[in-house]
Amino acid sequence: MLDGMSEANGFGARWSATGNAATGNAATGGAPRSDAPRLLQRTLKSPIQCRGVGLHSGETVSMTLVPAGPDHGVLFRRTDLKNGARDVPARYDAVVDTRLCTVLSNDHGTRVGTVEHLMAALAGCGVDNALVEIDGPEVPIMDGSSEPFVFLIDCAGVVEQPAARRTLVVRRPVAVEEGAARAELEPGEGFSITLGIDFDSAAIGRQEMAIEFSGAAFKREICQARTFGFLHEVEALRAAGLARGGSLENAVVVDGDRIMNEDGLRFEDEFVRHKALDCIGDMALAGHELTGRLRGRRTGHGLNNKLLRALFADADNWALVPVQDLQALAV
Ligand SMILES: [Zn+2]
Repeated sequence: MLDGMSEANGFGARWSATGNAATGNAATGGAPRSDAPRLLQRTLKSPIQCRGVGLHSGETVSMTLVPAGPDHGVLFRRTDLKNGARDVPARYDAVVDTRLCTVLSNDHGTRVGTVEHLMAALAGCGVDNALVEIDGPEVPIMDGSSEPFVFLIDCAGVVEQPAARRTLVVRRPVAVEEGAARAELEPGEGFSITLGIDFDSAAIGRQEMAIEFSGAAFKREICQARTFGFLHEVEALRAAGLARGGSLENAVVVDGDRIMNEDGLRFEDEFVRHKALDCIGDMALAGHELTGRLRGRRTGHGLNNKLLRALFADADNWALVPVQDLQALAV
């Protein structure tokens, strides 16, 4: 039923042959360790490019991650468009659509979609500043996880910059709800995430996970978890002209109580791990790594964005603090 969809993920296929060996040790040459405390901002050591297909558009896009200066943050640049309308900031208040993925837009209506898995990889690799050049409207889906992007970033290498890194400290609890879904942030040390999901399908069921966020934990426990969907949803999306690039090569597909992917899952609880990956990517749109505890139940991109908007709605809810000064702040 998904025949004909499993093409164009050439980079992913090449990457998967060597990914395990290369991931985690490619950042050589004095690059900062992924689990060290990060006091300084970081960017990429050199530009690096990949090509892949957009999950929804089905278009093949070329994407280049380019080093950027201190306090630049992450910015998407649509190289297929003219100057002036082509830059789209990777910020929570530029999110315009969250129904299928997280979509950013600038004031000119220029969009970049499916940013969350790349944002999670940048956050997990501790890249604060990067220009993301892309010649189409959607970040390539690759294998449906963040691992190919982590591999790319590790290949490029990461360098520290002479500028203090700041963290977004949660100072007061905020909570948002949508039906049975709920997410909350509260003050806490480090950045911890506790998530729960509950699906009728026996292939998923009830899953929970808790993680203390760090580069090492992200690479070990989260970045390989793939996006997932139900076959009947995939068919409906394709009938509506969406999910054109979707295939068993870049998603876990569930049919009733059965997983359709021949090789099965990468983790027994891959589904909730992917929810954590999405959450990390969406929270990275705050522009700085959070310091606080995030708890979520049945979260999605819409709820994640609502949570950040609730946090930023009141200046007393948060503070931007140099990481090295954290100890001095009473939270
Ligand atoms: Zn996702």
